[in-house]
Amino acid sequence: MGEIQLHNTLTNRKEPFVPLRPGEIRMYTCGPTVYDFAHIGNYRTFVFQDILRRFLHSRGFRIDQVMNMTDVDDRIIQNAAERGISIFDYTAKYIQAFKEDMSALSLEPPEHLVRATDHIEDMVKLIESLEAKGFTYRSEGSIYYRISKFPGYGKLSKVDLGGIQAGARVDVDRYEKADARDFALWKAPKPGEQSWETRLGPGRPGWHIECSAMAMKYLGDTLDIHTGGIDLAFPHHENEIAQSEGATGHPFVRTWLHAEHLIIDGEKMSKSLGNFFTLRDLLQKGHKPSTIRYLLASVPYRRQLNFTSDSVQQAASSVERLRNFVARLKEGKFPPGINAEMRKRAEHAEADFEAGLADDLNTAVALAAIFDLVRDVNTAIDRSEFRQQDIQPVLAAMRKFDAIFAVLEDNDESKLRALGFAPSRTELSPEEVETLIAERQAARKQRNFKRADDIRKELEVRGILLEDTRDGGVRWKNK
Ligand code: AMP
Ligand code: ZN
Repeated sequence: MGEIQLHNTLTNRKEPFVPLRPGEIRMYTCGPTVYDFAHIGNYRTFVFQDILRRFLHSRGFRIDQVMNMTDVDDRIIQNAAERGISIFDYTAKYIQAFKEDMSALSLEPPEHLVRATDHIEDMVKLIESLEAKGFTYRSEGSIYYRISKFPGYGKLSKVDLGGIQAGARVDVDRYEKADARDFALWKAPKPGEQSWETRLGPGRPGWHIECSAMAMKYLGDTLDIHTGGIDLAFPHHENEIAQSEGATGHPFVRTWLHAEHLIIDGEKMSKSLGNFFTLRDLLQKGHKPSTIRYLLASVPYRRQLNFTSDSVQQAASSVERLRNFVARLKEGKFPPGINAEMRKRAEHAEADFEAGLADDLNTAVALAAIFDLVRDVNTAIDRSEFRQQDIQPVLAAMRKFDAIFAVLEDNDESKLRALGFAPSRTELSPEEVETLIAERQAARKQRNFKRADDIRKELEVRGILLEDTRDGGVRWKNK
């Protein structure tokens, strides 16, 4: 197997990826701010990191991954206060929803899914060590990081600090700072708002400190990989570097990976613009969890993902095509024997799939390898050139595909039920109907009348009636 190449934001190039400790990868992922349901832009980034994780795992690495949940920030405090409940009661619902969404999207749970509010003491310690080293100053009960003390500031995002005018806002804090670029490590308490009594004095943590503290607590001073959406590179990740490297003197992260945005109508999908769909919005409309996962995984992470209703339809029919193909292999009756070409074909597809992913997780290339295989095997079957002993190597390639993409298992209905949606019979697109009809014709040709009949019944349940024509063809219409 070829070496893994990943694009490192720090060096701005693709590099061979080799973890610090052989066989083991320590990885941190910025998780959701749990003030609302996550939208599918957020899930674009989480699906990317799941594909990364699964791919590295398939290469035999042991993964130790931390994902945080930001369960304290200005919006959470404000929303909880408006409802007259504690931030813990307020976020509980969205933490639960996030976990449910993760399982609907087949996102593997990270080894540590941790909450910021459970790590206040770790943050306090980190701030103390930054204070001891002279990186901080206090103002009106808050503690700030003095960026001018950290010479490496800007190395990740290549932000031109000269261009940031004094007084310009680069952070969301509204506190008094010596320099506009400085950011809050610890925020003074405000009356009636959640705060903690600590050795630093009363207050609450800034956003950036939580990721540095939790990453280093579980993974050590130097991590192999840190991921997030591209909007986090500056200032969030830049600030994480300043905090962690300031405190330890060691490099914080060896490889930084950033996912480009999911966009809709030419703009980033975001809560503040109001142009967002949550996962549940899409499931409510009748889309399957596997469709959304496939769609989010199919565009390589460093390319923007343009979300359109066409792209959702295409994703649905791609998953359908792959599932039908596997069903055809498992249920079809093939003549005994072996066609050596088929094994070669499957091995070739596996190698191309693997090479696509090894090249900075190019999921488009990887998928093309699988769809080429599907096309060639379908053609061979139609020409009666496919034999019983060819099934296993082709299924092995499909298993390899699914260890990463995780869409083949027909479990959408149970996932929908788990989220409280009534099982729905979604409408088939004309292309999906044609695919099923072709499969039925092939089954009949192989005298597999049970399969042919099952397909006819399935179509009928979904509102499609078939009419066999005299010349052996089929016409179909909606009921
Ligand atoms: P948040 O809940 O806002 O902290 O964001 C969680 C993750 O989603 C972060 O890694 C963000 O960078 C990422 N994210 C936010 N909006 C988008 C988007 N439109 N496309 C891709 N990733 C996004
Ligand atoms: Zn973070």
